[in-house]
Amino acid sequence: MSAPTLEPQADWNQLYIDGEWREATGGETIPVENPAKQEVFTDVPAGTEADVDAAYEAAEAAQSDWAATPREERNEIVQNLLEELNANFEEIAGLLATEAGTPGYRAMGEFATATGDVEMALELEPPEEEVRPSSSIDDKDNHIVHEPVGVVGVISPWNFPLHLSLRALAPAIALGNTVVLKPATDTPITGGLLIATLCEAAGVPDGVVNVVTGRGSAIGDRIAGHPIPRVVSFTGSTPVGKGVAETAGKNLALPALELGGNAPFIVTDEADLERAARAGAFGTFFHQGQVCISINRHLVHEDLYDEYVDLLVDHAESLVIGDPSENEDVTFGPVQNETQRDDLVEFIEGSLEDGATLETGGEADGLFVEPTVLSDVTNDMPTACNEHFGPVAPVIPFSDDDEAIELANDTEYGLSAAVFCEDEERARSLADRVEAGMVHINDQPINEDHNAPFGGVKQSGLGRYHGEWITRELTEPKWISVQGEERDYFIFE
Ligand code: NAP
Repeated sequence: MSAPTLEPQADWNQLYIDGEWREATGGETIPVENPAKQEVFTDVPAGTEADVDAAYEAAEAAQSDWAATPREERNEIVQNLLEELNANFEEIAGLLATEAGTPGYRAMGEFATATGDVEMALELEPPEEEVRPSSSIDDKDNHIVHEPVGVVGVISPWNFPLHLSLRALAPAIALGNTVVLKPATDTPITGGLLIATLCEAAGVPDGVVNVVTGRGSAIGDRIAGHPIPRVVSFTGSTPVGKGVAETAGKNLALPALELGGNAPFIVTDEADLERAARAGAFGTFFHQGQVCISINRHLVHEDLYDEYVDLLVDHAESLVIGDPSENEDVTFGPVQNETQRDDLVEFIEGSLEDGATLETGGEADGLFVEPTVLSDVTNDMPTACNEHFGPVAPVIPFSDDDEAIELANDTEYGLSAAVFCEDEERARSLADRVEAGMVHINDQPINEDHNAPFGGVKQSGLGRYHGEWITRELTEPKWISVQGEERDYFIFE
């Protein structure tokens, strides 16, 4: 591995547009906090609509040259980006701990997935040019080619900032598009300015990647509704995503949407109980439950219910809670912000009022919400029917497979799900009946694999990431026909 090269060009207080580090036009800044300490550690620019316009204009100006650059040359630059990431692992893990409360094991996981995004981008190939004879006209050949869509707007969330920005950005540029990236305001560095720094060091040409930090409430509509982008890739909550789709749709830009979830985790009476409980605890408490594909509801067969709850409590109580930016042995950090904490406390209290039993946890201190297990939960309680997005395990009993499926599908979401059952046929039949874009058998729902399509159904999104699925969204087919012998234009003699 080469030596670290990460030297922030802009001290994090400038935007990256057209290969230059610039002040935001309004001159205002936004403080960035370490969530474990609830202390500001730096400020980033509050980008304005004028900055968004400048970024899109730079991306548009750079796009045709970038698309015309031979694929091998583009790949050399994308490969440089991969090397920059690898060379700076320690610095990046440190920034993830400080900005996103990321424990060391999760930083490694996010880093591996983010580098995997770039490795996958190097391999993506649009379908080769194909020639088909016309179905109706003599001596005409139809050539079908795939071109980059053009400029791509990327809006990313705070929960996996590095990975979820690169998941869209790396394939976009590898396939010949240019990008304007707006990271979340809680994670503007690991989701945006850091990536700009690495792209600059990698030799990404000016204008190909542009990063504008700023509040979604101030510049989100301009990012989504600008006339230049042809695709707006949005990862975040369902309500905001729907607004983004509507705004992008006004310009007929394609909205690629990865939205919220409410993953059911079905533990049948044929589950390996200890294995299921360990997976269930991981799927709930990993990254404090702040993953779109975290387990939102544990649906457990009544015969195993009490034992399962006890095992889940043991796992919850064994987590090492602390500040990941100070202690690398921590396995459980803070939630990202006060809104997250307040929503979680409200969901827990509401479920207790509705008759749930608190088995462990339930309290918050600063931004640390205790790992919480609730039993006697029903599907309509606040921790179950909402995407709670936190370290809370509501456990709901069921008596047969039909009831499990009814409970699992009784949600507006359809992102990820999981089924624990030793009988493969029964497990597969349950997986087929769950309404979700992704279902995992004898595992928990937090899985992402660059060799499989990632995305949801129902209110969880539109489109898929990875491989040929993202290639289809970031390129468009073009029909070029070639007429041989003169045609018979039948209205003329
Ligand atoms: P969010 O509030 O929807 O924000 C996501 C991004 O949208 C942020 O960059 C945000 O900027 C921006 N934004 C806010 N208002 C906007 C507007 N009016 N127009 C355009 N952009 C706007 O979501 P979050 O709280 O960051 O992330 C948590 C949610 O993301 C959960 O629902 C989770 O399930 C979902 N998620 C889904 C996936 C997936 O792959 N399906 C992955 C991760 C997360 P600001 O930060 O400045 O507000």
